[in-house]
Amino acid sequence: MKQNHSKKINLMGLSRKELEDFFVSIEERPFRATQIIKWIHQRGVSDVSQMTDLSKVLRQKLEETCEVKVPEVLYEKSSKDGTKKWVIKVGEKDLVEMVLIPEKNRATLCVSSQVGCAVDCSFCATGKQGFSRNLDLDEIIGQVWVAANSFGLPREPNSRHITNVVMMGMGEPLLNFEPVVNAMDLMTDDHAYGLSKRKVTLSTSGIVPKIDDLSKVSDVALTISLHAPNDKLRNELVPINKKYPIQELLDSVKRYVDSCDDKRITTIEYILIDGINDEMAHAEELAELLRQLPCKINLIPFNAFEGSDYLKPSGNRVKRFQKYLQGEGYVTTIRSTRGDDIMAACGQLVGQVNDKTRRKERALKNQIKTKAI
Ligand code: SAH
Ligand code: SF4
Repeated sequence: MKQNHSKKINLMGLSRKELEDFFVSIEERPFRATQIIKWIHQRGVSDVSQMTDLSKVLRQKLEETCEVKVPEVLYEKSSKDGTKKWVIKVGEKDLVEMVLIPEKNRATLCVSSQVGCAVDCSFCATGKQGFSRNLDLDEIIGQVWVAANSFGLPREPNSRHITNVVMMGMGEPLLNFEPVVNAMDLMTDDHAYGLSKRKVTLSTSGIVPKIDDLSKVSDVALTISLHAPNDKLRNELVPINKKYPIQELLDSVKRYVDSCDDKRITTIEYILIDGINDEMAHAEELAELLRQLPCKINLIPFNAFEGSDYLKPSGNRVKRFQKYLQGEGYVTTIRSTRGDDIMAACGQLVGQVNDKTRRKERALKNQIKTKAI
């Protein structure tokens, strides 16, 4: 069991199983785990002394040996369109971001799984930043905790809340397998965040053996970041394709779908980059390729970021691509860009924000550096 530098056990960072084991180890009944999960994740309480259905003696014991370490929010920012972004500090010097996208009847939280990313897709700002480190369970589920509290405390049963989580922030979730699976288990745990498994989505660039591993322990929704209809082009855009080429990837998705106990339609993400992968020939090849898989297609017009030469295609080119795929019978949507005025849109997450706040961020980073010394 992991203890932090203060030697106290961080209850935010324990899975249900680890909490049960912990209580057994201190000669308490395993159902205490449910009580703790409810306090922390359902009610948003981080102070053990407020956990009133635990005896005074147990609370005292927990206060001596445990803590509930909540993420340190460096700042939060709201976009004109209602999108909210938080930057949180993890460890001594790293920053990660999460984004909440409220819509009429739902609120989707986009969660990060790593600091940076080693996959290094050619169009992705996070990839260009390089890989720094994996996030621990407390740092992943802590993002959900912070966003859930933003709807107000105490959390009321029928108030507005997070309805969907997408693992589409910074990082490749399948390269940080165990903490990501444990975090998704808490997201779908009835006593924690209670989300339906269809409303928790893992997006992957295609780590084939890990998709097979996932099918053994989870059946959340799976989204594949395909972005190209053939290996030659995909090798350029998503370099992990050289290791796990398209057909192997699609076969593993079929195995995943078969392992779920309900019928699944996989979402295929396809970023559209002007003149690179958005020609009609690409649309034709894509339609042909995807015949083998029940899927819908989500087109994502490329979001520009500093240092990238790629361009966003015109609205007409995007529409033309969509129309063709729809004509071939595919449900095809275009992802609307949300929060790009605060650099919260897809592919813009690098633990940094726009010019106005960049100075503030630099000051914070310096502060962190000073603290770390
Ligand atoms: N690593 C995982 C999940 C995080 S990336 C994956 O790749 O699936 C989440 C989504 O953002 C992916 O679909 C990715 O293709 C998209 N994305 C990355 N960079 C982008 C950019 N510059 N513009 C638009 N979408 C981008
Ligand atoms: Fe990593 Fe996903 Fe970005 Fe590729 S698109 S570099 S896998 S975060």
